[in-house]
Amino acid sequence: MAQSADHGNDYTTHCKGRPVTSSDQNTHHNGDPQDWSVDSWSRKLDPQQVVYQNRAAVEKAVTKLRSLPPLVTSWEIQNLTEQIAEAQDGKRFLLQGGDCAERLDDCRPENITNRLKILLQMSLVLVHGLQKPVIRVGRFAGQYAKPRSSLTETRTVDGKEITLPSYFGDLVNAENFEPTQREPDPHLMVRGYQHAAMTLNFVRALIDGGFADLHHPEYWDLSFFGAASLSEDARRSYEEMSGELASALRFMENLGEKTVDDLTRVDFFTSHEGLNLLYESSQTRQVPRREGFYDLTTHMPWIGERTRDLDGAHVEFFRGIRNPVGVKVGPNADPEEVACLVRTLNPAGEPGRSVLIARMGAREVSSKLEPILRRVDAEGVPVLWVCDPMHGNTRSTPSGRKTRDVQDIYDELSTTIDIHHRCGTHLGGVHFELTGEDVTECTGGASGVTENDLEHNYSSALDPRLNYAQSLELAFLLAKRLRNQNGSN
Ligand code: PEP
Ligand code: MN
Repeated sequence: MAQSADHGNDYTTHCKGRPVTSSDQNTHHNGDPQDWSVDSWSRKLDPQQVVYQNRAAVEKAVTKLRSLPPLVTSWEIQNLTEQIAEAQDGKRFLLQGGDCAERLDDCRPENITNRLKILLQMSLVLVHGLQKPVIRVGRFAGQYAKPRSSLTETRTVDGKEITLPSYFGDLVNAENFEPTQREPDPHLMVRGYQHAAMTLNFVRALIDGGFADLHHPEYWDLSFFGAASLSEDARRSYEEMSGELASALRFMENLGEKTVDDLTRVDFFTSHEGLNLLYESSQTRQVPRREGFYDLTTHMPWIGERTRDLDGAHVEFFRGIRNPVGVKVGPNADPEEVACLVRTLNPAGEPGRSVLIARMGAREVSSKLEPILRRVDAEGVPVLWVCDPMHGNTRSTPSGRKTRDVQDIYDELSTTIDIHHRCGTHLGGVHFELTGEDVTECTGGASGVTENDLEHNYSSALDPRLNYAQSLELAFLLAKRLRNQNGSN
């Protein structure tokens, strides 16, 4: 996303086991807070760099974003940091979920309500199953920028091959395969900010007031309990859990108004991939009576698998902010490199600030996760281990649809729990791509979506999401799995 990347300075980090370059010997290296500024990232390489043609329009958009109020506050970010620190100690569990690519058009009341509803319901299943508080983090109000494997896309239109920039999400360009639509437009950053603000406004209002009925499992759609494909055993255990949950909630409500109030006034945090550094940095500032800089577009930005280069623009930017920062870690990550990444992003090893989101895939997780866990654990920086069981399990159907299977998703979670158990660490959270709508994008689950069903209601702009029933079912499965694991500890 940088407008310019000056690669003349070959900065390499000082982490153990990493080569140190000549320009690194004195003061110039990652991890030195002296060298950081809100735009120091622009001198580094950004592998997902968007080239804007109109410099004046970029300047205008950035100036506007700098002048606008923050989307979130530093005290909310501090609150989340404290909660993540507790989750690192095993006292809380983090649930993160939402669209792969949020669209500006998704800023509609029913969409926002449905997303909150499924996340809240999943969190209650987990609270009950794990007997610990759940930190709810939505992938929304800013999940508008998407990394792409290829920077351009070629299609044959009217017999002619045409190459245009890929679709990088609504923060950057539009999806339609037309030259004017695919041209990156800086003003979309301002539109993204506005839609994030409108989304957040409604989320905050719902959380402050009218959300109570979602606590009643009698309003939940549990019809998948009756699906023929569900084993008798699984059905009995889901019914038992939802029955227990209903009576626990009724019991708490009967205790009096104060508790009802506490139950309905839940915390909700936002997150998105911090891909577009122009957008992130223009809302990054110092606030009165606090040290350091806060990225005020979201509570917890994360660095994606394609942009976590130690010497890259994203690590440079995110090492300088106070927010908790997530990093996606895929099967090709080297344990030494991940340890170095964690140290670079959090040199003082402060609790609550480092979140590693492993996305290995059901097949690779058993060999790839453990060496990383052990190496990072030895580094001594407190880390919250989150599992994203979506991105390593994407496959294409013969007709070219991207999909994921509920069984693979569950298998990756289950194996991850085993590996943590073996290493003496613990799974502290999960990261799902999901929607509250009844889409047919992932296969499997009790409701039995098959590959043939995918055409019925496939509306994701990019990756396939779990639908309402699949999401809730995975929450039940995970709660049961973690409860059994804890019971056997
Ligand atoms: C995503 O979360 O949508 C994504 C692109 O993930 P990753 O960076 O893990 O591939
Ligand atoms: Mn995705």
